[in-house]
Amino acid sequence: MGQYIAPLRDMQFVLHELLGVEAALKELPKYAEIDADIINQVMEEGGKFCSEVIFPINHSGDREGCHHDKTTHTVTTPKGFKEAYKQYVEAGWPALSCDPEYGGQGLPLVMNNSMYEMMNSGNQAWTMYPGLSHGAYECLHEHGTPEQKALYLPKLTSGEWTGTMCLTEPHCGTDLGMLRSKAEPQGDGTYKITGAKIFISAGEHDCAENIIHLVLARLPDAPEGSKGISLFLVPKFMPNADGSIGARNPIFCGAIEEKMGIHGNSTCQMNLDGAIGTLIGQPHKGLNAMFVFMNAARLGVGMQGLGLTEVAYQNALIYAKDRIQMRSLSGPKAPDKPADPIIVHADVRRMLLTAKAWAEGGRAFCSYVALQLDKELNHPDEEVRKECADEVALLTPIIKAFITDNAWTATSECLQVFGGHGYIAEWGMEQYVRDARINMIYEGTNTVQSLDLLGRKILQDNGAKLRKFGAKVQAFVEENGTDEAMSEFITPLAELGDKVTKLTMEIGMKAFQNPDEVGAAAVPYLRVAGHLVYSYFFAQMAKIALAKQDSGDTFYKAKLATIRFYFARLYPETAMCIRQARSGSANLLSLEADLF
Ligand SMILES: Cc1cc2nc3c(=O)[nH]c(=O)nc-3n(C[C@H](O)[C@H](O)[C@H](O)COP(=O)(O)OP(=O)(O)OC[C@H]3O[C@@H](n4cnc5c(N)ncnc54)[C@H](O)[C@@H]3O)c2cc1C
Repeated sequence: MGQYIAPLRDMQFVLHELLGVEAALKELPKYAEIDADIINQVMEEGGKFCSEVIFPINHSGDREGCHHDKTTHTVTTPKGFKEAYKQYVEAGWPALSCDPEYGGQGLPLVMNNSMYEMMNSGNQAWTMYPGLSHGAYECLHEHGTPEQKALYLPKLTSGEWTGTMCLTEPHCGTDLGMLRSKAEPQGDGTYKITGAKIFISAGEHDCAENIIHLVLARLPDAPEGSKGISLFLVPKFMPNADGSIGARNPIFCGAIEEKMGIHGNSTCQMNLDGAIGTLIGQPHKGLNAMFVFMNAARLGVGMQGLGLTEVAYQNALIYAKDRIQMRSLSGPKAPDKPADPIIVHADVRRMLLTAKAWAEGGRAFCSYVALQLDKELNHPDEEVRKECADEVALLTPIIKAFITDNAWTATSECLQVFGGHGYIAEWGMEQYVRDARINMIYEGTNTVQSLDLLGRKILQDNGAKLRKFGAKVQAFVEENGTDEAMSEFITPLAELGDKVTKLTMEIGMKAFQNPDEVGAAAVPYLRVAGHLVYSYFFAQMAKIALAKQDSGDTFYKAKLATIRFYFARLYPETAMCIRQARSGSANLLSLEADLF
């Protein structure tokens, strides 16, 4: 069923040639010993695990799905999932970027990030089991009590236990302020939690011996709305002090959802019937603590989009070189065959290059953000940490929404390369499209990401974070503005930078008069902002590739061709999106709801 080979060459290009990761990590005392060889070796081993262990069970996992036993409330994952998880744990992969104090390997997030790209290419549904644990780890690491950390972090680090995030309830998804689950203090520092959660990924399964649920609920004295939500740690089995498994806690899976994709991941209805939990962080400040999890998860969802884009591209490329149909318009290219391979056709190339450009741009962007996150957490200079935190905050909604929107297009284009063979299940391409669709919905829909970007991250701080990013773009433009060979990349980058500045000011002014202007502009605005970020990274990559194009390494020739394709065929979307964003709210809101 197709193939997946980790794109190590492009990863190395991004990490070493574009980002200079080794030198950047030397500035962080914690990672000063890490060199390019270590990074490359880990990526190589990780790539093998993804292609040899989890990729082979991706399609079968999709066909089989998870099984729920209503009497025992247990969930069985598809054949091979449990065994693959065991191998993952035995190889120490869950501990990659975790704190050595809790048994982790203490490697940087930028490496973990590349690992997650490969894991998602290999098998998104499977990857969600460890992926959610990683978010739970981050949240507990930052907000847990010393006792919670001592008991739970080593188990999440080793992968023996997995984690979940339990936010959504039947009547509230986006609007968590409406949630109703209740937490009653027991007088002994614990709480009895009652409520119904839905759509909980990896809520119940057979891969790990215990599951640590991070649950949002309300205390009895909670104020209404989002300011009255607290976060609780609710284990499936109460652990004993020595970390062994104790009594079963009444948090049970009532059913698993039938759904469009990611069938190998159990999406559970979770019923809490007086389940015992302990508070994480401060009372009523649960959303603050949960934001650590949500931000980690948003970057993680971006990696899901990227992983699917890459694997869909690889398979479409193999097919396009093998499948013969029709002749090239300019005459036969494979005269020895009854027809030419379809890769000769211009539009097949457009589809392939679309996916290739979204994968390569996304890889550069995500790796950059992961490195900024490492600096945010570990740089000795507080000012640098703050700068990086601001930049990560600005770019997180773009990672989540832009990459997953692009992945939806890319997987669909790659399916199209297969013609009818893409639509039938045999080749596995339709699975990528179905799997890609959820990434635009969970972790805050892409609309919500757009509102977060434009409303909170940009307009609420009067554009300060955006201006700082813009200054980096401007510096690159000035540095390379006189280089004639770079002008085909610098000109569109500089133009878009100016347009984003004007567009932001225009929407900001309109929003003073009418807040609906933000909602009306947000989605196309995020597309424009995403293109600004990609143009910036593509222009930087072009500079490296131009300098090495005569090196004899064809990698750079291919890189330049992809970048030229991006500016010619994908970047022009910005013109349409700017028009849409400027068109105002009236064309959306003037029609009364009952006239639709
Ligand atoms: C397979 C799957 C796995 C999931 N995993 C988890 C999980 O592990 N844990 C968990 O807690 N949840 C999980 N979810 C839930 C997911 O996060 C929610 O579905 C998502 O946040 C959207 O909430 P909703 O479905 O209630 O949609 P709603 O909030 O009802 O939104 C419906 C539509 O209205 C739009 N909308 C809402 N408010 C606004 C606004 N202010 N402005 C503009 N548009 C708006 C939305 O963008 C959306 O298009 C999962 C869902 C699925 C399907």
